[in-house]
Amino acid sequence: MMSANLQRWVQGAVVSRLPQAFRLGKMPYLFVFEVLIILVAFGFAPIDPNPQTAMSSIFLGLAVIVHLVLTSRGMPLSQTTHLTCLICLGPLLHMVWFSGGVWSPRLTWLLVLPVIPFYIISPRAGYVWLGVVFAAQIGVAVCTAQGWLFPAQLSDEAQFNYAFATFSMATVMLLFVPLVYDQQHRSTLREGRLRQKELEKKQAELEQAQEMREHFIASVSHELRTPMNAILGFNSLLIKRVPHNPRAFEILEHTRQSADHLMTVINDVLDYSQFLTGRLTAHAETFALRDTVQHAFDLFAPRVKSMDLAYRCEIDADVPEWASTDRHRLMQILVNLLGNALKFTHQGQVLLRVQTDPGGVLFSVEDTGIGIALEDQPRIFQRFIQAQGEIQKRYGGTGLGLAITQSLVALLQGEIGFDSTPGQGSRFWFRLPLTAQTAPQPLKLQARKERQTAGQAWQFLVVDDHHLNRLLVQQILKTAWPESRVVEAENGVQALDFWRAQRFDLVLMDMLMPVMDGVQTTQAIRQSFTSQGLAPVIGLTANVNPQELERFKDAGLSVLLLKPFDPVKLCDEVEALLLRGAPLAPPSLAA
Ligand code: ADP
Repeated sequence: MMSANLQRWVQGAVVSRLPQAFRLGKMPYLFVFEVLIILVAFGFAPIDPNPQTAMSSIFLGLAVIVHLVLTSRGMPLSQTTHLTCLICLGPLLHMVWFSGGVWSPRLTWLLVLPVIPFYIISPRAGYVWLGVVFAAQIGVAVCTAQGWLFPAQLSDEAQFNYAFATFSMATVMLLFVPLVYDQQHRSTLREGRLRQKELEKKQAELEQAQEMREHFIASVSHELRTPMNAILGFNSLLIKRVPHNPRAFEILEHTRQSADHLMTVINDVLDYSQFLTGRLTAHAETFALRDTVQHAFDLFAPRVKSMDLAYRCEIDADVPEWASTDRHRLMQILVNLLGNALKFTHQGQVLLRVQTDPGGVLFSVEDTGIGIALEDQPRIFQRFIQAQGEIQKRYGGTGLGLAITQSLVALLQGEIGFDSTPGQGSRFWFRLPLTAQTAPQPLKLQARKERQTAGQAWQFLVVDDHHLNRLLVQQILKTAWPESRVVEAENGVQALDFWRAQRFDLVLMDMLMPVMDGVQTTQAIRQSFTSQGLAPVIGLTANVNPQELERFKDAGLSVLLLKPFDPVKLCDEVEALLLRGAPLAPPSLAA
């Protein structure tokens, strides 16, 4: 095997000086091989004992030179090689004819001939020429046997020297080919290994980048959802306290709607990352369909007030009051389409229509805006696609909205489409397979319902590093169970100290915390050998990474709720666990 240093030297000192056409792959070897043939052909001419054949030897050398020149000029190798072999066949047979036929050592050169096409063009070409040479040899044998050849009269000594030189050189040349093949095979292997290493490195980098991205998304999600949890939670507590103050109620309701909208936007951004990794999920619930559509529509009402637009919403009478799908996703879709329609419409109208149709419920957003150019229409649902550059400059946007919208519609098992006339307007529609559902128990009633466990003095442990979140959970628990006692811990270590010091009926555990996180703390609780280790633990987290959620559940949670959570839902879960008495059930995701 050629050492790496020698190879580098050969590459620098020899290969890089060859004509351009001979620098890559097996071409340097071809160059050396042909130079060898030329040297042998010219070198043998003076020592040739037979004057008739010396000229043929020179002719042979010239033919190979022509082949080198044609190749360096860029002529196709296969053509020049077949041509050269054909030309060489003549002088070779001529040499054999004048030097004794099958008794002549020159016949050996005929054997070398198929090696050239075999090596340069393909094994198949080599076999073809082997056939030609074999036929020529049979011809020579017949001619020799019949005595038709030119009678060679050579001295034994001259014959001996020439035969020795011929066989030696032919052996060298025949060895050259397997050597070259071996060398090439090794270098291909080496290159392959190098490339594989590079690919493995790239893959590792990509995986790391992906991991970092997911980590980033998880922390952004956490940081955004944590304050939203407090805002929505406290707002809903306040709303319950002002039922007799319509003005305050109205303001708080506005805050709730805006916070809800903000939550939708946050989800949109986070969804984009999940959309990239194909991890979008939907949580179906029974909800007031007509109210939800109206709510999405109303979100833009303040904006439209300052515009010269007719902004209308028409919901057909037969559209079901209650339906079941992911309400937040439906809101996202409507908000995206209405947002686009208002963005690209300066006069006329924007109409949101909801109708029943054989496939379920058909939603459409029709506008009299700028429309979409015909050439942009086929790719409008691709991400980062916006109609012509000037539109992006004028209207801004990320080009993500429609791509996400399309994925969301698919997630809800629906279909989406649009038609648009440039300069006249667009109509985006989507159909969801929704059917009428029976109304669930009214939420407000639920909120006010008398809890069976309300009068008991429960001991709750709330573990969360955010003061406001602890306060919120405490308020929710104290409102529903006024006799209860709520102990707060800032992290897992503090929680375990409390845990060992007294008995708790239920723990509410945050996931991400400094010092000791919720996963470790829950595991530690489950590992305590007293009956305390079976107490229910509700996981509360703003993290949406599915793997991390799974890890949290596996730590031994009774129930997991995502922040921002609905206070009523939290109370329902708490009550169910308190009533169950056998607290450690297989964990379920209640969000
Ligand atoms: P962006 O966030 O940039 O608006 P979208 O994916 O929502 O991205 O929309 C992509 C492009 O589709 C927009 O840039 C716009 O050119 C075109 N588009 C979407 N909706 C409308 C509409 N109602 N009227 C005209 N053009 C639209």
